[in-house]
Amino acid sequence: ENGEIPPYAAQLNAPQREAVLTTEGPVLMLAGAGTGKTAALTARLAHLIAMRRAWPSEILCVTFTNKAAREMRERVGRHIGDAVEGMPWLGTFHSIGARMLRRHAELVGLQSNYTIIDTDDQLRLLKQLIQENDLDEKRWPARQLAGLIDRWKNRGLNPGDLDAVENEAYANGKGAQFYKLYQDRLKALNACDFGDLLLHMLNIFRQHHDVLAQYQQRFKYILVDEYQDTNQVQYLWLRLLAQTRKNICVVGDDDQSIYSWRGAEVANILKFEKDFPGAAVIKLEQNYRSTPQILAAASGLINANSERLGKTLWTELPAGEKVRIVGVWDGPEEARRVGEAIERLESEGAPLDEVAILVRAQYQTREFEDRFIQIGLNYRIVGGFRFYERAEIRDALAYLRTIAQPADDLAFERIYNQPKRGLGAKTLEAMRRHARRTQTPLAAASLDLADSDELPARARNTLVGLLGQFVHWREMAEQVTPSELLRTVLTESGYEEMLQKDRSAESAGRLENLTELARAMEEYETLTDFLEHVSLVMDNDRRDDGEKVTIMTMHAAKGLEFNHVFLPGWEEGVFPSQRSLDEGGLASLEEERRLAYVAITRAKRRCTIYHAANRRIYGQWTSSIPSRFIEELPDEHIESETTMSGGASLWRANWSENEDPFAHVSSARPERSTARGPGWQRALSTGYDTKPKRIAESGRSAASFAAKPRTDIAIG
Ligand code: ATP
Ligand code: MG
Repeated sequence: ENGEIPPYAAQLNAPQREAVLTTEGPVLMLAGAGTGKTAALTARLAHLIAMRRAWPSEILCVTFTNKAAREMRERVGRHIGDAVEGMPWLGTFHSIGARMLRRHAELVGLQSNYTIIDTDDQLRLLKQLIQENDLDEKRWPARQLAGLIDRWKNRGLNPGDLDAVENEAYANGKGAQFYKLYQDRLKALNACDFGDLLLHMLNIFRQHHDVLAQYQQRFKYILVDEYQDTNQVQYLWLRLLAQTRKNICVVGDDDQSIYSWRGAEVANILKFEKDFPGAAVIKLEQNYRSTPQILAAASGLINANSERLGKTLWTELPAGEKVRIVGVWDGPEEARRVGEAIERLESEGAPLDEVAILVRAQYQTREFEDRFIQIGLNYRIVGGFRFYERAEIRDALAYLRTIAQPADDLAFERIYNQPKRGLGAKTLEAMRRHARRTQTPLAAASLDLADSDELPARARNTLVGLLGQFVHWREMAEQVTPSELLRTVLTESGYEEMLQKDRSAESAGRLENLTELARAMEEYETLTDFLEHVSLVMDNDRRDDGEKVTIMTMHAAKGLEFNHVFLPGWEEGVFPSQRSLDEGGLASLEEERRLAYVAITRAKRRCTIYHAANRRIYGQWTSSIPSRFIEELPDEHIESETTMSGGASLWRANWSENEDPFAHVSSARPERSTARGPGWQRALSTGYDTKPKRIAESGRSAASFAAKPRTDIAIG
């Protein structure tokens, strides 16, 4: 403002500075990946405080993750030091909602010390309600209801707001009724769920104008990152809060909208100019993150999407390496290759913190975890549990441990009533008591107990049945492979069925994890060998020192960047996911493609994509087809290599699905050629380009978009 460039803006380019200096009125920054949107937003926050436009407590700043909020806080702190003391309204929608609701809880019938319940509690509550109201839980699972309630809350709908179609979605027209029962029960418990954190506040804003006015006054400025992934309730929330002052700055990228499955609506960012007429629209076109090769590959890919605004991106970075596509034989080889590549990077001095493996689905992490532990490579799983710590994996392992070691009380306790067999806490108490008295392991004690009349007849019968199953499985364990054993146990115990009935996206992921566990076991001859391997892996997990490779899902990687990015499993059915293919719609496929765009654009220096010719599924070889996204990458920006002579396509032609590939082709595995393709050439140039390179130019500008209302944007 005084003509001198403050330190926090020194690094910024002209449009970024404009985004920082246009403090008054609505601002929309719609720009591609890595163009410095988050950097500009952070500088804007620093600027507002440094220029005393507002106190830190008068700025509402929304980030997509808690981690992003922490980083922003740190960065602003570095720029303007103590002035930053307390930015109470910097965080995710949920954390900000929770903070507000504490102050106004009584307006929705809660006390300020309300508890926030998690998904497990939510399900338990819904189950109770379903039972109390004599609904058939098998037909109308609690999870389904939970999913619907989430969806309604994401859309800002209260029980009274449901239309006939929504109401019909559960128990033949009982949707609203059960939604209301659930809300009432929560209130009675002085509790709310995550969705309530926003919905309650929205209701308060709508019904208590004094409260709304108070916040409209307080928040002199509103800043929102990743605006393309806001859902309806978040959108309504922001629109109300920004209504009077209209100093709202949102940043995002329609090409990176990847949460429609959680209710996000990319339309929100596209209609910003209509919601806030006269908004300054700032476009950022220079990418500071990725090399031209990476950027061009990603831009070429996203061009295949029909429903987008289109953007121009360029970079001044040196050309760098082409995106590498590596075809491997199978999953284990993929993990081995990635491990080798990372070890090479490490020996060249690359910090492991700058290396990431981004997967489409959680189950994919297993192969890498096993391999990295074997070769002693430090890794961390971000945004999820390590494979062997996941609940369903622990359950399955508990079955196996009980089979291998009948005295393993901990294991038996974990699964004696999982899936539910009607053996409650009372039964467990009796078993424990008896075990102590007779100095025998729990399972043996239960057998004893089943002969006595200490337990009701039903529990006794169930116990006898279960223990009988274990005897049968133990015999089986002598005859079949460990992975066959696991599959039998999962079926016969009813565990698999429990998950199948669940019908939620989450349980689909759990089933995938169990399939992956069976796959992992195929490498072991005996159950004992496998269980020993797992104990070692779990033990290894406790190390927590030094730099680590990051393994995470593509979804969780949004907004982040790494020098080296590895993208395994680019095969049809893995990525794009089977679910997106089954749904069949253009919208779901385009969302997968945006996810691919997000994944590639996380890479700063080097991006390597893998696809395997075979995946072993339930003991059978299945040939895989490379992901369509690989074909969509522009040839001139990729470099393909295969570790197999002949390449994957040749192999594919030679066997049909579910058959052993070896039977057809030759007597043994093909020799793996170690020769690489063109090698690590720098294909474009080696030095810095003097002129910025236009990478991708397509579509319309945000402004021209706004002039022409569109209805064909992918929503939901
Ligand atoms: P995404 O869409 O993935 O969220 P983004 O648009 O938010 O990306 P940033 O993460 O803000 O991009 O920036 C990408 C990288 O570019 C960061 O490393 C950032 O420090 C750097 N950067 C941003 N602006 C500039 C600039 N003007 N000069 C140099 N580097 C910059
Ligand atoms: Mg960002």
